[in-house]
Amino acid sequence: MTSQSIPTIPLHDGTSIPQLGFGVFQVPPEDTAETVTKAFEVGYRHIDTAEMYENEAGVGEAIKASGIPRDELYVTSKLSNAWHEPDDARRAFDETLTTLGLDQLDLFLIHWPLPMLYDGDYVSTWKVLTELVADGRLRSAGVSNFEPDHLDRIVEETGIVPVVNQIEVHPFFGNEEARAASHEHGIKVEAWSPIAQGAVLDDEVIGKIAAAHGRTPSQVTLRWHVQRGDIVFPKSVREERMRENFAIFDFELTPEDMEAITALDKGEDGRTGPNPDAFDYVPD
Ligand code: NDP
Repeated sequence: MTSQSIPTIPLHDGTSIPQLGFGVFQVPPEDTAETVTKAFEVGYRHIDTAEMYENEAGVGEAIKASGIPRDELYVTSKLSNAWHEPDDARRAFDETLTTLGLDQLDLFLIHWPLPMLYDGDYVSTWKVLTELVADGRLRSAGVSNFEPDHLDRIVEETGIVPVVNQIEVHPFFGNEEARAASHEHGIKVEAWSPIAQGAVLDDEVIGKIAAAHGRTPSQVTLRWHVQRGDIVFPKSVREERMRENFAIFDFELTPEDMEAITALDKGEDGRTGPNPDAFDYVPD
């Protein structure tokens, strides 16, 4: 399979994004160039990184070494929680571009809203991202971990709608309110930790569906996401799993399969990451 077989999702700003990408959270910085190089060999062309993952340099190294034409790649990074002040955000974006070795970034996200910090002013931070788009060095601006009220506020106060909201979504945590609020604004959902870092793979229901299709639990879970229209970028440092996670566009789940997986939602109890309303981590 080649990158040509990955569907793209149109975003409201006229750009589009490959629906399947490769995430590099928790890929050690020293292994990142090699891991991303393997992902490119498998066929991934969309990479999701962040300043806080401390591995943008490895992503940049792999991009440079790959020889893949720039317009065939889709690269996302995210603003560190340390840099929400507007001047800091502008500097951090410049640094991200330099570290990745790119002239233009496809997508930049506010990583967390941090309503408890910076006087709760994520609106000024959002304005900086919109300026970067106007300036041409950023193609698309989005957010991550924004709850419905955070989305409403930035849209009301700036009139500019993020193209995506990257939030925790997997069978144990459907995050339906944040998904629905995103959709109401015309924002596409990116589902982070799409296999709940492996926690959903031993589920009996998912296991049965996987057996019925002759697929793995990870493939079935990722397929469930894409049939819901969400964008995913599973992480793995192992080539065989990269291949497994890539092969999800040549089978289809039935409406009954989809419903059975959606019914695994445990609400708040299924959340594996922090609650965005309370999260206030700032790196040193
Ligand atoms: P995932 O749900 O992608 O799961 C990754 C884990 O599952 C790793 O431990 C990996 O192990 C294992 N794994 C991967 N594929 C398989 C498979 N086929 N079978 C069995 N195990 C497998 O978790 P992530 O948290 O990494 O989420 C994906 C991406 O989402 C991140 O990399 C990041 O880009 C983004 N993200 C964004 C956040 C945000 O706040 N915006 C927060 C968290 C994630 P191994 O590597 O050993 O194969």
